[in-house]
Amino acid sequence: MNPLHWPVRMHIASVGVSKFCFLFSLAFCALLLLLIPNLQPPARQVDLPQPRPQVRPAQAGPSHHVGVPAVSVHTGETRSATELNRSSAGQGRSIKTEGSRDDIISPKRGMDSERGALSGGKGGRLSGSRSWDLLELKDIFIAVKTTRKYHKSRLELLIQTWISQAIEQTYVFTDGEDKELRMRTGVNLINTNCSAAHTRQALCCKMSVEYDKFIESQKKWFCHVDDDNYVILPSLLRLLSSYHHSQDVYLGRPSLDHPIEAAERVKSDGSVSVKFWFATGGAGFCISRGLALKMSPWASLGNFISTAEKIRLPDDCTIGYIIEALLEVTLTHTHVFHSHLENLQKLPTDTVLEQVTLSFGGFENRRNVVSIVGGFSLAEDPTRFKTVHCLLYPDTDWCPKLERRHRN
Ligand code: UDP
Ligand code: MN
Repeated sequence: MNPLHWPVRMHIASVGVSKFCFLFSLAFCALLLLLIPNLQPPARQVDLPQPRPQVRPAQAGPSHHVGVPAVSVHTGETRSATELNRSSAGQGRSIKTEGSRDDIISPKRGMDSERGALSGGKGGRLSGSRSWDLLELKDIFIAVKTTRKYHKSRLELLIQTWISQAIEQTYVFTDGEDKELRMRTGVNLINTNCSAAHTRQALCCKMSVEYDKFIESQKKWFCHVDDDNYVILPSLLRLLSSYHHSQDVYLGRPSLDHPIEAAERVKSDGSVSVKFWFATGGAGFCISRGLALKMSPWASLGNFISTAEKIRLPDDCTIGYIIEALLEVTLTHTHVFHSHLENLQKLPTDTVLEQVTLSFGGFENRRNVVSIVGGFSLAEDPTRFKTVHCLLYPDTDWCPKLERRHRN
């Protein structure tokens, strides 16, 4: 082999190699380009932060009624709003005499006017059928109004029944000391030092203390009841879970079928009148913290008493006045709160446990109680509160055993 040919051959060979390299890298790049989209990581399936559902503004004003909505609370249990909305205020209502606070409601089965009506008064109700605010019982401040003479006859029954399930967050506002009751039951008993009379001033004095204690408590919801109310705690939690405590929410049952009218003596000199709805205190009502804070100029630190004095109306009317007339927030009418001003026997038996509050008796009618069958006869349990309690909490030590309940 002629050694002179070597460089020529080597040159030809190296040209061939670099051509091959060039073509190879071109093909490799093309392949890479094709593969790039597939090499990217898959789109993340995790939830990006979602905006909270928008709270719709007030729609229906005074004629807006709600029942306990379908929401899941802790256990994930979901109940239908249909089952819980069996009545509608304004239907089957008795005619009232002027000034009367009588309010006889005949609940109509199968009525479901609120189904899907998920907006609240002036804000509040969250859209959708799940709870956005995982509300717990400890977030609710429950105020019970009582008086010394009813500690034995009324309050003890409440402590024995529903208060025992919410002892930490229930505050009893009374007008006399009862150390023995406090020691024996562990109930939060607050002596307001208000007068024990059943006068407007005395009742407003108690409401004023209730309000201040709630603000102090930092809890999310304020609910007021009387000492003749049974509070069905799971229903209360379910109801409040569908609203947000930072919104303006005022929930309760009006005792009249029309707004009350009063002379406007807070914003003007009394020469004009103002119309507003209020939730009857005897059935209980709830107010969100957001709204309660706005009430402060007219409700805190004794201002509630002077506001009530100016308009010359009782405590529950004054609450309605501050919220509806001064703050222009609408009462959300609910029919799951009950006072003895209604005919409680007309409440369908299978809906009793789904109500938020119950009551009993009344001035002329001791037999005005809910119709419910359970472990206690009418003589053993004239208010039916024990029967309701044992149906809700059958494991309670004093509740009749299952066999006995079935016999009744
Ligand atoms: N009450 C009170 N002082 C009284 C009488 C009654 O604080 O002198 C309370 C009572 O404990 C209850 C509420 O006011 O929580 C309503 O009283 P009641 O049920 O006797 O009357 P109603 O107005 O419901 O007919
Ligand atoms: Mn009462």
